[in-house]
Amino acid sequence: MGDVIDGKALSLVVKEDVKRQVAELEKCFGRKPCLAVILVGDDAASRTYVGNKLKAATYTGMDTLFIELPTNVTERVLLDKIVELNKNSAIDGILVQLPLPKNINEATIIDAVSPEKDVDGFHPKNVAGLWLEKDCIIPCTPAGIIRIIESVGCDLNGKNALVVGRSNIVGKPVAKLLMDRNATVAIAHSHTVNLGSLCRMADVLVVAVGKEGLIDGTMIKPGAVVIDVGMNRNVSGKLCGDVDFESVKPIASWITPVPGGVGPMTIAMLMNNVLHCFQLCNQKGN
Ligand code: NDP
Repeated sequence: MGDVIDGKALSLVVKEDVKRQVAELEKCFGRKPCLAVILVGDDAASRTYVGNKLKAATYTGMDTLFIELPTNVTERVLLDKIVELNKNSAIDGILVQLPLPKNINEATIIDAVSPEKDVDGFHPKNVAGLWLEKDCIIPCTPAGIIRIIESVGCDLNGKNALVVGRSNIVGKPVAKLLMDRNATVAIAHSHTVNLGSLCRMADVLVVAVGKEGLIDGTMIKPGAVVIDVGMNRNVSGKLCGDVDFESVKPIASWITPVPGGVGPMTIAMLMNNVLHCFQLCNQKGN
C-alpha cells in the first residue's frame, strides 16, 4: 500500500527555510527581497493563484508589489511596466501571471522580463541555462517535483523515469532535471502508442497532462513513485489530478495527492526562486 506524500507539509519546510534566509538577507543588505506580481484581467483562477503566491511571499517575510492591469491593456503598456520593474533595484523577482489576454503575445512578455528577475524561469536565457547546466532560475513546478521525489529518499540514479506530457513549463524541464540526476528518462505525449506498457516500466512516473483519470492502477509498476501534476475539475467541480488516486495508491510506493501534492510545492519553490533572483541581482550589482 503506497504512502501519500504530504506536499503541503513539505512546502511548509521550504517556506520556513526561505523565511529564515529572508531575515538573514535583511540583516546583511538592509532590505528584504521583493516580489512583483502582475495580474492582467479578471480571470478567477489566475486571481486565486496570484493571491496564493502573494500570501506565501508575505508568510516568508518578503516584500511584495501587486500590479493589476485591465483586460484591455495594450502590450506596449505591459511592456513599459516590465521595463520599469527591470530597472527598479528594489524589485528582485517579477512574475507575470499567465495566461494573458489574446491581444498580448506571451512570448514577447516572457522575453521582456530580465532573466535575473524571472522567478518563473520561463525566459529563453533560463531555459538555455537549464539545458546547458548553467546557474539559472529553474521553473517552480519541475523544481518542486524533484524536491518531492528526493523527500521520500528515492535515489534517481539508474531509475527508469517516465514523464507524461512535454510542455515547456512542466514536462520538458522535469525530464531534464530527472536526467541530471542520472535517471533513464522517457517522455510520453498525445501521440505515444501504448502508454500503459511504458508506464509499467517506470520506477518514477510524473504525469502532467490535464486529463482526469488518464493513469490508473493497471498502468503502474509495483513500488513506483507516482507524481500527479494534473489539475482538473471533475463533474462535481472538485479539484482532481491526472492519476486515479484510489486504484494507483495500493500499487505505488509513494503518491502525491491532488490537491495537496505538487501545487503547494510549486508555490514554495517560487519563494526559493525569489531568493535566487535576489542573489543574481546583487551579483550583477543591479
Ligand atoms: P499542456 O497542455 O501544456 O501539456 C499537456 C501535455 O500532455 C502535452 O505535451 C500533450 O501532448 C500531453 N497529452 C495530452 N493528451 C495526452 C494523452 N492522452 N496521453 C499522453 N500525453 C498527453 O499542460 P501543462 O504541462 O501546462 O499542464 C499539465 C497539467 O498540469 C494541467 O492539468 C495543469 O493544470 C497542471 N499544472 C499544475 C501545476 C501545479 O502547480 N500543480 C503547474 C502547472 C501545470 P502533445 O504535446 O502531443 O500535445
